[in-house]
Amino acid sequence: MPTSSGQHYDAVIAGARCAGAATAMLLARQGARVLLLDRSRYGTDTLSTHALMRGAVLQLHKWGLLAGIAAGTPAVRSSTFHLPDGTLTVPIKSLRGVDALYAPRRIVLDAILADAARSAGAEVRFGTSVTGLRRGRTGRVTGVTGRARGARLEVGADLVIGADGRRSTVARCAGAETAHVAPASSAVIYRYFREDAIEGYHWHYVVGATAGAIPTNDGLACVFAAVSERRLRRELDDGADAAFRRVLARAAPGLADRLGHRGAVGPPRIFPGLTGYLRDAAGPGWALVGDAGYFKDPLTAHGITDAFRDAEILARAVTAEGPDAVGRYQEERDELSLRLFRVAGRIASFEWTADDIGEHLLELKDAMAEEVAAMTGEHRIDPGRLLQPASA
Ligand SMILES: Cc1cc2nc3c(=O)[nH]c(=O)nc-3n(C[C@H](O)[C@H](O)[C@H](O)COP(=O)(O)OP(=O)(O)OC[C@H]3O[C@@H](n4cnc5c(N)ncnc54)[C@H](O)[C@@H]3O)c2cc1C
Repeated sequence: MPTSSGQHYDAVIAGARCAGAATAMLLARQGARVLLLDRSRYGTDTLSTHALMRGAVLQLHKWGLLAGIAAGTPAVRSSTFHLPDGTLTVPIKSLRGVDALYAPRRIVLDAILADAARSAGAEVRFGTSVTGLRRGRTGRVTGVTGRARGARLEVGADLVIGADGRRSTVARCAGAETAHVAPASSAVIYRYFREDAIEGYHWHYVVGATAGAIPTNDGLACVFAAVSERRLRRELDDGADAAFRRVLARAAPGLADRLGHRGAVGPPRIFPGLTGYLRDAAGPGWALVGDAGYFKDPLTAHGITDAFRDAEILARAVTAEGPDAVGRYQEERDELSLRLFRVAGRIASFEWTADDIGEHLLELKDAMAEEVAAMTGEHRIDPGRLLQPASA
């Protein structure tokens, strides 16, 4: 099997979606030599209900990518919470030049990010799997091994970044320990409806179930229904379609009635559940961004927002101080993650009552606001600085 080797990069990144492509773009914009690899094909879909929160939209704006998203994605100008004791609509306030949220399909968002990484100078290769890590004499990670179309790949790097999602090969090969585990997981079924009259995000909560409607591209709304992991296994006994209808009717009867008359587009998609975790995010020569290092329950609709945040704080740390600054990245990531991670676990447990779900949602809102404040503070990548040489 032929081997391509001998190349050396400042950073090699496994995974070219929201975490990896954003990190590659930011590093390449600072002049770093970046290789971005993904085993899937360019522009493909992945599980997601698409909702971007304020932090993600601000990042896209700051990176100069929001106009490209907004061109084909409906603006979300309010978030409506349907709670057991009433309905509350919160308008999206204007902040730093951003006055709306967006929920782009992943085929749109991830392609824009990969294009931006390539335009910034990163070398982007799809159809290429990272299969292992190379290590130096001290045990420091010094590169990756991989595979592309039958050929073996070996490349060196000052920093290997795992942005390869929930089953991260980089995390496993690096030996990243899991520091925190969530108490429970939700399970989600979602599908698309041709429905362009839904105004803003809608989040529905009844005891034991939740649902939501999220306007996205092409006149579609992404509608999800969620219960506990164990409950979904039972609901699926008579198929995904029946389970979706039943859970939606329970969590959001008005929405279920309204959609009942309109055709769904495509089959239901199922997330069977996965307990959240916070893994070590870095070690000598390696770092993890996005779901590779930190997965919180999808009910918070916050994974993409945090993937962008990770990209920004990792790129800032290593651009300013070199690849050995990954420890500082980990500290900052943990500090910004734990509050939201804990409340996500409480919501995903479905152990809340009609009386206390509002408190959990307020806690979630405060945790998000804290994160936005941190990200809009003095966090800036120093322009013109390249990655510093590795120390060992
Ligand atoms: C049902 C569901 C709904 C969700 N809804 C929302 C939402 O509304 N809003 C939100 O913000 N978040 C949501 N999330 C979370 C969000 O989807 C994730 O947090 C986000 O996709 C993480 O991005 P990532 O780039 O870290 O990983 P991923 O999107 O998982 O991408 C990882 C990439 O790595 C590649 N890869 C994997 N292994 C290798 C390898 N060995 N070599 C090379 N490439 C590799 C994969 O092909 C993939 O392209 C949802 C999640 C689920 C499950």
